[in-house]
Amino acid sequence: FFREEFTARSAAVRVRFGAGIRKTVADEIDALDARRALILTTPQQAAMAEEFAALCGPRAVGRYTRAAMHTPVDVSEEATALARELQADVLIAVGGGSTTGLGKAIALRTDLPQIVVPTTYAGSEATGILGQTENGVKTTLTSAAVQPEVILYDAELVTSLPVAMTVTSALNAMAHAAEGLYARDRSPLSSLMAVEGLRAFRDSLPGVMAQPADVAGRGETLYGAWLCGTVLGQVGMALHHKLCHTLGGSFDLPHAECHAVILPHAIAFNAGAVPDLLAPVIELFGHGNAGLGLWHFAKAAGAPMALRDLGLAESDLDRAADLASANPYWNPRPVTREGIRALLQAAWAGRHPA
Ligand code: NAD
Repeated sequence: FFREEFTARSAAVRVRFGAGIRKTVADEIDALDARRALILTTPQQAAMAEEFAALCGPRAVGRYTRAAMHTPVDVSEEATALARELQADVLIAVGGGSTTGLGKAIALRTDLPQIVVPTTYAGSEATGILGQTENGVKTTLTSAAVQPEVILYDAELVTSLPVAMTVTSALNAMAHAAEGLYARDRSPLSSLMAVEGLRAFRDSLPGVMAQPADVAGRGETLYGAWLCGTVLGQVGMALHHKLCHTLGGSFDLPHAECHAVILPHAIAFNAGAVPDLLAPVIELFGHGNAGLGLWHFAKAAGAPMALRDLGLAESDLDRAADLASANPYWNPRPVTREGIRALLQAAWAGRHPA
């Protein structure tokens, strides 16, 4: 992984790991010298907010349970107003990327510290990235102000993640590591984390799919999520993420499923341009080809494999290829309309990548 020249960036984050570690949340609040916690989650996870309120005791001054996908600005402003009204001095975000996004959006507006307790593998807790939506337009910013200060990874909270979401969320995380391997701004450290994150998912996901309540297996997937999320926080993404952004934004395809379908195809598209950098993926997933190895892994795990099953019409593929190749961006292999059109056709039909 050694490169003659590199710049490595790491955020100052306190990470605690362990089954049941959520029960130390009050200590973490005290360690931040905070006294008034606002607990955040989605309507679907409101019961988890209740549990955290009990764990925080008198430190819990309020709950906001309306976190939503893609961090809508009106929700963030409503929650920020509540944080100010309650004079909260710390945010506790319990949930997936949507809840973490809300915590970051409030932190951006108030500079409050964040304790994040992730319940999916999305990895947002480990980044200083925030995507927000206003009037249907999503914009993304990167700022130290939104990087969470404390992360509590508790495998017991992930056992309730439905099996279908488990596999798409895992592939979403793995996509950050896979693209991180060829990022222009990678460092030896980000590459080590990417390989280890992929390895952790390779080894633990099949067992978790068979036994979703297995806390040890869930723990290893969370470890993978931490590593993959940290990679996302350190390096830039390329083709895979641009494609998913286009498909999600312009055709309203479901975010996590879209990542799952596109990943093997995007990696296969780039594999010839950076064979050395993707060699660890072949070592981990076999089949002599990085994209094909990931495709077989996803298929064995029961992931969605075809864009047509996500609601994309074949007649949309031309426009999708136009959009995805319209604004040039860096990618290890030059992005051409023709190349993207062929990639999309294979991903639409659910064929394995060449
Ligand atoms: P999510 O947070 O939207 O969760 C999806 C649904 O599953 C929600 O209803 C949630 O309440 C529920 N859920 C989550 N964990 C559960 C559990 N353990 N048990 C039962 N139900 C559970 O989904 P996500 O995939 O984690 O996050 C997606 C969002 O995160 C997107 O908006 C994406 O853009 C963002 N994201 C941001 C970054 C970043 O660095 N900024 C990184 C990754 C993802």
